[in-house]
Amino acid sequence: MLVNCGQPLALVSHTDVPPRVTENFILTGYRFPNYSLRDCLWSAFRPTNETGNFWTHFLPVFIFAFYFVEVFGWDGAPDAEAAFFYPLWTYFIGVFCLLMASSMAHLLNSMSLVVREVCFFVDYGTISAYTVGSSLAYYYYIHPRAGIAAKGGQNSSQLGSNHEPDQRPASYAMPEHSMFFETFYMPCACVVAIICVLSCCNTRQRWREHRYIIRTLVFLLPFLISSTPVFYRLITTSPYSNTSPSFAASAPMSTFFYRHCVWLLVSALFNISKVPERLAPGRFDIWGHSHQWFHCCTFLSILDELHMILAEVRAILLSPDLLLPPTPSSRLPGPTIASTYGVMLLLQTTIISIIMWFSWHANCIYGPQKHRLEKQHLQKHLKCH
Ligand SMILES: [Zn+2]
Repeated sequence: MLVNCGQPLALVSHTDVPPRVTENFILTGYRFPNYSLRDCLWSAFRPTNETGNFWTHFLPVFIFAFYFVEVFGWDGAPDAEAAFFYPLWTYFIGVFCLLMASSMAHLLNSMSLVVREVCFFVDYGTISAYTVGSSLAYYYYIHPRAGIAAKGGQNSSQLGSNHEPDQRPASYAMPEHSMFFETFYMPCACVVAIICVLSCCNTRQRWREHRYIIRTLVFLLPFLISSTPVFYRLITTSPYSNTSPSFAASAPMSTFFYRHCVWLLVSALFNISKVPERLAPGRFDIWGHSHQWFHCCTFLSILDELHMILAEVRAILLSPDLLLPPTPSSRLPGPTIASTYGVMLLLQTTIISIIMWFSWHANCIYGPQKHRLEKQHLQKHLKCH
């Protein structure tokens, strides 16, 4: 982080950086987009207007991992590498990539205007991939719980009709919706994720004026599609007998989901409103601006989602009536490497291709400006000294 004179690279105000870099109501603490990789990495330990954005998604990686691994120590849990856990691992990969890409995007975006664009394209890509990771976990653990069979030989999603009918109404099984969940749910989640990447990347090159609203609304769509198994569970009754340990384990699921929604809503409000910096421009330049609260709220929503998924995994593991995959009596195929990691890999490859296309476009726009900007910045810097 040292330049010739032995001083750290100076932070600059919003009037000294290209308009592309400025954030509404943030007046100081900017890094000029000419940092080396080493300068960027060191800036994590220096108060700039991106430092808080970095740490509020980097530290959560460890908190998330801490809560994630507890599942492997539960009674009745198969080995961590068992097929039953493939969807949970793909969910972990989705969250891990999201948090890492987001924190690194904030740290490395001052290398150049082109790198800045690429960083945020990757950020949007990982958010979209995360929604598909969630969908896989919902599909295999919440509804239709593909691959999990009842000991009587049915698919677990159809238990309601003749299993302990006195305690569990038959409304749990709604055959008219099975077509959507069994055939269209996962493809829809993937298509919507790709639409999201395309739309969000576009907001960096056009529709700039309403970019925060568009990005927030665009991510409402994958939330609504991905969450349909949870909505289904909330409007039907529990698949477990209400005196069973599985019922007790699954009971907090709705609370975790509502809290997950509240955090998402609050995060969206921060992202759109730009409060608190809107109320006092310049006062929250380094610490406490809306993007940091947005990061905190999105992480808390992910943490509640993890607890919701783990509650359902625990309920499955505690049920003596269920057989874990692979089981020949399951009507829907259980998780395989192709249907979990393979889906994620295919999706990530598609997203990377989209990002490369947008990055090439960004390079055509901002690449030629690099030398001119650096020259202007250097002249200004020399005048000041
Ligand atoms: Zn961010």
